Amino acid sequence: MGSFNYFSWNVNFNMNKELKNLRKHIDNIDDDLLEILKKRFDVVQEISEIKKESGLHIEDSVRQTEIIDRLHSKSDDKILYRHLEKIYSSIFDSAKEKQLLLSSREYKKENSVYNIGGKIVGEKPVLIAGPCSLDDGDKYVDLCCELKESGVSFLRGGIYKPRTSPYSYQGLGKDGDYFLRKAKEKTGLPIVSEVLDIQSAEESFDVIDVFQIGTRNMQNFSLLKDIAKLGKPVLLKRGMSATLEEFILASEYLLSNGCNEVILCERGIRTFNTHVRSTLDVSIIPVIKEISHLPIVIDPSHSSGNRKYVLSHTLAGIAAGADGVLVEVHQNPKEALTDGDQAVLPNELDVLFRKVLKIWELIK
Ligand code: PEP
Ligand code: MN
Repeated sequence: MGSFNYFSWNVNFNMNKELKNLRKHIDNIDDDLLEILKKRFDVVQEISEIKKESGLHIEDSVRQTEIIDRLHSKSDDKILYRHLEKIYSSIFDSAKEKQLLLSSREYKKENSVYNIGGKIVGEKPVLIAGPCSLDDGDKYVDLCCELKESGVSFLRGGIYKPRTSPYSYQGLGKDGDYFLRKAKEKTGLPIVSEVLDIQSAEESFDVIDVFQIGTRNMQNFSLLKDIAKLGKPVLLKRGMSATLEEFILASEYLLSNGCNEVILCERGIRTFNTHVRSTLDVSIIPVIKEISHLPIVIDPSHSSGNRKYVLSHTLAGIAAGADGVLVEVHQNPKEALTDGDQAVLPNELDVLFRKVLKIWELIK
């Protein structure tokens, strides 16, 4: 057994003590760093709010380079200098991850409720109804007057139609404005209508109260940005093969570019099903309600493609928590130039909406 060496024990004891103290010091510095980083993230969050409001890009690589250059110029420590870029690139990444989506529940706890032309979206279920497209303008106006009597809150009706075939009826186009305006004047109801490009949106700006962005354009990002800048409410349909994330991020294009009233719409997605036109994905509704404050309506007409199933798709969507229904109606579906098979008759709406309200009463 070696003899006890007081000298080396003492050296070790003192070294351990010094090490311990230094480590304590490091812990304190790390605590401070953590607090400072938290503060930095909060300021970054404030900056991004301002940028979102002004429609500016959140990520700014020029500014990031400026930050690193400024710090470089302040430090003569070569090693630190080499690492600054790496350290800051992780700081920038974590700040990005912490930025809240404008559509998220974290960003806004309460459900969004909009008053559009005196009609409320986001509280009680809303009924948006009308034909797929305006075929005969005068008949459209008559139909709208009838729809008003059935408790419809918003009228729909397409004048710019996105058709699979270029040889199919493309809608009345700009001429349809006149009849949309007439229907609006006669009923006092706001109009939801699809636009395919910014020119038509600008042309029909005063008559369309809610711009519909169809399934085919959900990821037409430049259109989303342009439409958002007009500042009117938008009904955004889910792309027919879009995931939840893609759907939500498409809504961010609108929200971050000046549109404050986004209504989502689940209209069925493409699956291997052949028994209906699309598959109504009711499963997305409670998930959207959980993660987002945006209202979501369902479109049972395009999900089913068949008037026989419109009611059951409607009720399934409402039972899942949807804020309303967008349904196609025609006074003579056989004569409809678009989507006649899925159009219900005006007198069927009454029962449909009564059942909607019953289900909603049960689950609210
Ligand atoms: C429509 O609403 O008539 C329409 C074309 O819808 P979607 O974009 O869902 O196919
Ligand atoms: Mn249609």
